[in-house]
Amino acid sequence: MKTWIHPGYNTGDDATKVVCICGHTFTVNSTVAWPIKLENCPNCHPTYTGKEQKIVVKGRMEKFLEKQKRIDAMKKAA
Ligand SMILES: [Zn+2]
Repeated sequence: MKTWIHPGYNTGDDATKVVCICGHTFTVNSTVAWPIKLENCPNCHPTYTGKEQKIVVKGRMEKFLEKQKRIDAMKKAA
């Protein structure tokens, strides 16, 4: 294996941490060095739980509008 082009494979104590927005965390073997953020995991996904999901995730348009509000506020302040 060419170590200078292949990323390290994190296992055991160095395994990559996965954080879901429901608060559930677990680790997976991965080449990713930073924590992985999920919007769904086996702990909260309706397929696994059999319950309707109550978590509301912000959509792209809501994020865009929030960003525009921040920009407008910065323009007014300047
Ligand atoms: Zn979850």
